[in-house]
Amino acid sequence: MKIYTAEEAGFCFGVKRALNIIDRLHESNESIEIYGQLIHNNTVLNNLKEKGIDYIDDLRSLNDKKKLILRTHGILKSDEEFLKDKDIFYVDATCPLVKKIHRIIEQINLSKNKILIIGNKDHPEIMAIRSYAKDSLVVNSIEELRFLKHEEPVSVVAQTTLDSGFFKMMIFEIIDRVEHVEIFNTICSATIERQEAVKKLAPKVDFLIVIGGKNSSNTKKLYNISKKINENTFHIENSSELRDPELTTIFQNFNSVGITAGASTPPEEIEDVKVFFRNFKTEKES
Ligand code: SF4
Repeated sequence: MKIYTAEEAGFCFGVKRALNIIDRLHESNESIEIYGQLIHNNTVLNNLKEKGIDYIDDLRSLNDKKKLILRTHGILKSDEEFLKDKDIFYVDATCPLVKKIHRIIEQINLSKNKILIIGNKDHPEIMAIRSYAKDSLVVNSIEELRFLKHEEPVSVVAQTTLDSGFFKMMIFEIIDRVEHVEIFNTICSATIERQEAVKKLAPKVDFLIVIGGKNSSNTKKLYNISKKINENTFHIENSSELRDPELTTIFQNFNSVGITAGASTPPEEIEDVKVFFRNFKTEKES
């Protein structure tokens, strides 16, 4: 089996930064807890748990003997205000590119514009972004643009992990419907690089493996982009899923595999998948 890896895959700058913050504190023997899942990857969360670093979903369960870290996706503005009001010390591991969107929103709040957020309204990043906005609407389909009014000015921002092709399509639709539109392309560079890399890889290989959390937004986008180009695309969380007899039977038909991974997928998981395919023999080869 020939193995090709996407030019950009795996941990992004924001995830590496958050993990470095935690490593430094852990090495100085600090007791740590995280507000929310640090990132959407079970292997990383389990590794942290093994080091005694767990996460809480509610600020009422705070342990005052532990140092609090804020997740990469950001937290609600009201939660941050709560921490400040109560004088609770915390270390902010929110990705700076997400924080930048909060600042953009605060600037837009000074104008009369409605804030149009393109993304998944149930994702923690979007919930946090929205909490900064005075007047906002979250949309994730052309259908939902029906709520826009022609004469009401809008400022548009995007979830950092949005599919860039989908963002462009939505912008075309919005400028058709609304008279005054201000656009902030807030899709992060790591997302764009990984999406471009998978677009290049998908047509060149017989099938693709996309590695990453099933609840990881950017991983799901990579999967969807790849699937549109190469229907033999499979999303797995880790290499153990590759041993599924149904999948191994499918792999028998192929000679080349492309591998990519979401921004929260650790390098060892990518390596495990490579090792699996290095050792994988099709019937013709064995
Ligand atoms: S995917 Fe982009 S926005 Fe999200 S943590 Fe990584 S660099 Fe930051």
